[in-house]
Amino acid sequence: MEESMTLYQEHNTCRACGNRHLIPVFDLGYQALANCFRTPDEEPAPKAPLCVLYCETCTLAQLSVVVNPEILYSNYAYTTPSSTLQSHHMKRLADALFMDAAPRNHTALEIGSNDGAFLEVLRNRGCEKVWGCDPSMPQCVKALNERKIPSYNWLFSENTAVMPPMDIVVARHVFCHVDDWPDFIRGLIQVTHSQSLIAIEVPSTRVLVGQLLWDTIYHEHTSYLTLHAIGALLKGTPLRVDRVLDYDLHGGSVVYLLRYRDHAHTMTPVEESWITREDWMQFAKLAVGQRENLIRSVVRLRASDKVVAGYGAPAKATVVANACKWSSSDIKFVTDTTPEKVGKVLPGTDIVVVGDEMLELLQPDYAVMFAWNYHEEIRKAKHQYVKKGGAFIYPHGAPPL
Ligand SMILES: [Zn+2]
Repeated sequence: MEESMTLYQEHNTCRACGNRHLIPVFDLGYQALANCFRTPDEEPAPKAPLCVLYCETCTLAQLSVVVNPEILYSNYAYTTPSSTLQSHHMKRLADALFMDAAPRNHTALEIGSNDGAFLEVLRNRGCEKVWGCDPSMPQCVKALNERKIPSYNWLFSENTAVMPPMDIVVARHVFCHVDDWPDFIRGLIQVTHSQSLIAIEVPSTRVLVGQLLWDTIYHEHTSYLTLHAIGALLKGTPLRVDRVLDYDLHGGSVVYLLRYRDHAHTMTPVEESWITREDWMQFAKLAVGQRENLIRSVVRLRASDKVVAGYGAPAKATVVANACKWSSSDIKFVTDTTPEKVGKVLPGTDIVVVGDEMLELLQPDYAVMFAWNYHEEIRKAKHQYVKKGGAFIYPHGAPPL
């Protein structure tokens, strides 16, 4: 199917401000699509350029290409992970939204609602009516069957978003996957009224750059948003940034709360220092150094006959394994808790994904902690592995801050 479709298109004008002179700041070459898990006998995952461009006008960073969403999300195996970290975060976020929203019986829409987990939190918090919207039909069905949450089977856009205006509209980790931002904003205006609160949650670009989280750069994440960039995007629209919330989840998560410009809410001026071209250049230099260290560590361990495996097969695992050019002779296998990934290979490699229990059963000497964002929970769950002499290697050299 995908051979007849265009795999990707170049996008070299700034998505937020339209600047045509973007500067390449970090280039990982051609990389396999990070979530494209296939069995060893299937066609390998397709590859596309993975290069970050920086806009000096508004500070947005974006990938140089946009992969065709029909290919990128065709076998998308992501379900909102149920972890204590996630549920704690969802409760915090729901509280913050309720503090800011108008005092009334709220209605809420979540864009990219997945299996409805966050909408369930909002409903428990007192939202009278909640709706989801997600391009994945199985997730919409799951939300309805398991949580009684009605969901529109939409890929959110101005054309699809036809419904009465909502009091609260949430888009969690969706916005930076979207190519056509002006269309998305028009869609938001369509599903809101003058008193609505809009929450856009994205990974923190400041944390990414500051903590060298280069493995969180992959094709789904087409943009690396900043306050200046969203300001540039909203120029000339009825919306403005009202507040910015920072969370420490997932190596940094930022929520931009948007309101209508004529909303009476007292606006606290939000400010943010610029992430400069030099910051990105420094990031690229240090990230390359980190990758070289990682490659050397595994070479050294393999030379002394140590077995090295990987823990977790999130998109980050694909990025690191491909950047390090690892094969199954370097990393023997990768474990994961997602049944849909087991038995498939880490995209772009011949490293097979096995079930989570195999870490203790096979007891490799070392395991690269690809899922480092859950490392505290993982270390607790895998204390037997460590007790028996197993050790974790962190892609960034040390556990995350
Ligand atoms: Zn720009």
